[in-house]
Amino acid sequence: MRIARYVADGGDPAFGIVELAQDGSGHPDSIAAITGDPLAGPVNYTGERVPLEAVRLVSPVIPRSKVIGIGRNYAAHAAELDNTVPEQPLAFIKPNTSVIGPGEPIVYPPETENLHFEGELAVVIGRICRRVPRERAAEVIFGYTVGNDVTARDLQAGDRQWARAKGFDSFCPLGPWIVTHLGIDEASDLRLITSVNGEPKQDGRTSELVHGIAALIEYVSGFTTLLPGDVILTGTPAGVGPLTPGDSVSVTIEGIGTLTNSVVEES
Ligand code: ZN
Repeated sequence: MRIARYVADGGDPAFGIVELAQDGSGHPDSIAAITGDPLAGPVNYTGERVPLEAVRLVSPVIPRSKVIGIGRNYAAHAAELDNTVPEQPLAFIKPNTSVIGPGEPIVYPPETENLHFEGELAVVIGRICRRVPRERAAEVIFGYTVGNDVTARDLQAGDRQWARAKGFDSFCPLGPWIVTHLGIDEASDLRLITSVNGEPKQDGRTSELVHGIAALIEYVSGFTTLLPGDVILTGTPAGVGPLTPGDSVSVTIEGIGTLTNSVVEES
């Protein structure tokens, strides 16, 4: 299932199931309306269906408590910034107020002169959990979406702590929807491509993760309780680079979808 949150006709955001075209193209083309919150229980279809192009997608999840990021989890990315791969996952927290949806603008703040994209596989947690052994990680995963761990690289170096560099409002685009039908093995071998203004910048595979999805859940749930809707960003492959106002950045993960955001100057 592909679960989206969308706004139609200026109404309130609602959850819906993205459906694929029946014309053989397999392109997502419509949304079937459902009632309630799929993270809280089984979904009920209302019978209503709207074309995808007639709605505005918003973030498929608003993390109730936190987004946990993992730094330097692809060896080639660690190397490109002259860092070594940490023995243990390097975890940090992005505030849930940094989350935006597909199509919403990344706001370039005046405090930075070096804003970077980081395309990432995002794991959405489905159950309240603590100290989950890696063999049981699948039980607490709701699904996967695409994330962009937007980072003010200059502040990251200067601040030492990453709260500000990675925590500005709009620094955590998520979407376009949550895919719930992938197993950990499938999610652990997907191609990830980030392009800026149509030009490819990152091209990696989630099989290159130093600490895999199950190990990350074990590690993160070992220090903090995870709540339904919390998100773990699994790290970014090599090829990170700058964004400037006016750019359009797209992160595509095969089998999930494409997350596109523009960059605007803070007004
Ligand atoms: Zn990152």
